[in-house]
Amino acid sequence: GAGRDPASLNSILVSMSREADRMRVLVLDLLTLARLDAHRTMTPEPTDMNEFIGRILDEGVPGMPTNVERNLSADPVIANVDRNALETVLRNVLVNACKYAPGAAQQWTTARANGRVTVTAHDEGPGIPASDLPHLFERFYRGEKTRAREEGGSGLGLAIVQALVRAQGGDVRVESAEGKGTAVILELPAATEAPEPD
Ligand code: ATP
Ligand code: MG
Repeated sequence: GAGRDPASLNSILVSMSREADRMRVLVLDLLTLARLDAHRTMTPEPTDMNEFIGRILDEGVPGMPTNVERNLSADPVIANVDRNALETVLRNVLVNACKYAPGAAQQWTTARANGRVTVTAHDEGPGIPASDLPHLFERFYRGEKTRAREEGGSGLGLAIVQALVRAQGGDVRVESAEGKGTAVILELPAATEAPEPD
């Protein structure tokens, strides 16, 4: 019936468009997981993580605070990673920090030790309750406090992050406590052809 009422037609189109956007994101996320379940192979390439993270932080995401600090290692930190997968991983972690720690300072750190590259994204936001921690990487899990929110995702982000880093021989963990901020720690294989720093 809205066809004859321009005012309600407009608001209905806006909400249809928003729902279509959400559905698009959900379908793409599910496709990513389905492809991983089907053992889509990764194409690892030696990649300078300082440069890579610098570019993603330069491009930014909506709601990114101004106080995002780069503690990037002075030595080159070369990881052997699939760049498309890694971009998805870093964007998910960055979007989470910007969404769940709005306006809070972030520190992004890179390091290399024992054949592994470590990337840490720390935020000084509200942190994650202990009861949520064991479930963060489950598909469709959203934090107790987050679930009620109108806007927001479907709880697939960290499941995708974990699947993508494990598929290339890496891993991810979250260290967080309420009131203490959140650190997402990514461990990635270092590239063997890169020179070890002295
Ligand atoms: P999606 O990523 O699919 O849009 P989502 O962000 O809710 O949805 P995940 O990225 O998997 O899902 O995150 C799971 C939950 O972990 C979030 O719902 C939120 O409660 C919590 N979380 C993630 N990152 C942070 C953070 N930096 N600070 C506080 N809570 C976080
Ligand atoms: Mg998320």
